[in-house]
Amino acid sequence: MPARSCPFRIRHASAARGLAAAALIVCARVAVLNQAKFVLMAPRVVRTVPALRRAVMPWRTAGERIALVPTMGALHAGHLALVQAARRRARRIVVSIFVNPTQFAPHEDFGSYPRTLAADLAALADLSVDLVWAPSAEVMYPPGFATRIVPEGPAAAGLEDRFRPHFFTGVATVVGKLLIQCMPDFAMFGEKDYQQLKVVTRLTQDLDLPVRIIPVPTVREPDGLALSSRNAYLNPLERAAAPALQRVLAHCAGEITRGELLARVLDEGGAAIERAGFVLDYLEARHADTLQPVAALKDGPIRLLVAARIGKTRLIDNIAVSGGRTAKKAKHGIS
Ligand code: AMP
Repeated sequence: MPARSCPFRIRHASAARGLAAAALIVCARVAVLNQAKFVLMAPRVVRTVPALRRAVMPWRTAGERIALVPTMGALHAGHLALVQAARRRARRIVVSIFVNPTQFAPHEDFGSYPRTLAADLAALADLSVDLVWAPSAEVMYPPGFATRIVPEGPAAAGLEDRFRPHFFTGVATVVGKLLIQCMPDFAMFGEKDYQQLKVVTRLTQDLDLPVRIIPVPTVREPDGLALSSRNAYLNPLERAAAPALQRVLAHCAGEITRGELLARVLDEGGAAIERAGFVLDYLEARHADTLQPVAALKDGPIRLLVAARIGKTRLIDNIAVSGGRTAKKAKHGIS
């Protein structure tokens, strides 16, 4: 029945064309919607202090809580965990992205530190971040800049400061500036950089800054390696060796909890880290709050801290030791 089948085929073909056209329109709309969603959710970037103040002021006036997440960019899931922790506390979130030159020594990796602003903004797009504060070095340190915050106490504990003597002055100065610029109610810091967390907490207490420092647990790869922007420097062999740091820390923490002699545990732990291919800068047991040296479990709460180099990459990590005295509920800043 060609006379009947032909019209059917014609109708069918035209229906198919119609469907295809409709599908195209739907796809185009979805693309537009997706783009609109990106445009809507991508955080606004501000680059000058007056623009930052203009953005933050209405929030303060409205009594909205503000959280600051200071970063150097090259964002990974560790940074995003800070943003999520910020979301649980505050209505408004500011993420600062600033590779701070003053915390790098001349021989360190300031020049090669990963700078990935477009990818960072995309990573923040779905997290309802209100503002990205991304000043240039000239905005942060304009000509004539002549003031530094020189922290002591935890900043002089003989850990990172022994290997990076310039580091905490750079960190304290820039964090002091960031807190004064943004005036947040909360500022989120990762336990990954444990000494830094303690330095910043002390700083806000000593300078009576009306901000509460919130510690956020370390986010790790499935094999235990702490996420870090510097992990990108590791070649495949180094990357395969790198989880040894956390494995050794966990082993040492277990031994100390079981009552093994602390000095012996640390000696053996250091040797194990070197066997894994690292050059050890330090493996230390410190009081978790003051970072002062401890000799035994009873002197705790104890935190083990390690820094070691593999190839050209320097990694740091830390772990809490359970047992001993109950950890005093740490007071991180004031509200
Ligand atoms: P950075 O960009 O490396 O200066 O880090 C910015 C903040 O993210 C600091 O408070 C770090 O402690 C924190 N951070 C970095 N890596 C991690 C991680 N793996 N887990 C949790 N926080 C992290």
